Amino acid sequence: MIRGSCLCGGVQFEIEEAVGPFELCHCPRCRKTSGSAFVAGLGVRSKDFRLTSGSQLIRTYEAPIRERPPAYRVAFCSRCGSPVPDPPADAKWLEIPAGLLDADPLLRPDKHIFVECKSDWFRISDSLPQLTKAQLARQRQPSDHPSGGHEGSSLLRESSKIDLLAFDVEAHLPLLRRWLREPHVRRWWGDPDANLRESLQRPQGGGHAVIAIDGAPVGYICWQPYRREDLEILGESDIAEGSIDVDLMIGEVAHVGEGAGPRALEILVEELRGDASVPLVGVCTSVENTRAIRAFEKVGFSRLREYDDPEFGRCWFMALRAR
Ligand SMILES: [Zn+2]
Ligand SMILES: [Zn+2]
Repeated sequence: MIRGSCLCGGVQFEIEEAVGPFELCHCPRCRKTSGSAFVAGLGVRSKDFRLTSGSQLIRTYEAPIRERPPAYRVAFCSRCGSPVPDPPADAKWLEIPAGLLDADPLLRPDKHIFVECKSDWFRISDSLPQLTKAQLARQRQPSDHPSGGHEGSSLLRESSKIDLLAFDVEAHLPLLRRWLREPHVRRWWGDPDANLRESLQRPQGGGHAVIAIDGAPVGYICWQPYRREDLEILGESDIAEGSIDVDLMIGEVAHVGEGAGPRALEILVEELRGDASVPLVGVCTSVENTRAIRAFEKVGFSRLREYDDPEFGRCWFMALRAR
């Protein structure tokens, strides 16, 4: 058991063990947030991490997205300003600012990253590997690193290919059943059985597909014409005939937040744009799901109106005019 704390001691946590990677990041955003030459980020499994006090003191800040999600996000103690761990609800990993640890994590830094952005005044004098952003992207497997983007980085390797695979009941239904039961999906999708039934009865004018990264299924996307009852809930009565409502999720927890969802949505929107009968594509998301809202905005959707969903509470209706 290794304990850690912020400068004032208000935020305290413990970790079972550190498993790495242990990276020294020289990206401009890490330099800003640390006020120093680099951030020393130590990889810890979420199941090995416990916040023992001070959750009410923790504030977060998300820097504007420069390339693609996830946003560069920092968490800090609102009393003393120390960076603190920010465990994402749905990730298997997190990165601990190593300077917070009060004991030896028994791991040593294994590489410098984003070295092309290094401060002029700092000289790397150890013999650790020095990786640029591009080299890191080639080396990194999507599932082997904590989430959270550094300067413009994406956890998807740059060569990763996102595809929409035709939904195949035999191959994909068991996956979809499992994904719908995952807590991070259930939170925004609701009743798994009702969703599964709906997936087997796609309405006319609708469709569905599996989202794949380099051929491996990771999520689900479906679309259908708006029904009158949907529009009543949205408070939209004048939406053009043929407008399409899209829902999507990344079911595989290890791939949440990598940017595969927005890229899948982009592919679908491109296809729908080719269909002259679709005037508008819409998505809905809880006002609390800030990650999804940012991702949809990045694809070109704008917030049209807030409404109260009977199941999910306050939501945003976001849309993109297809033509
Ligand atoms: Zn503090
Ligand atoms: Zn960084």
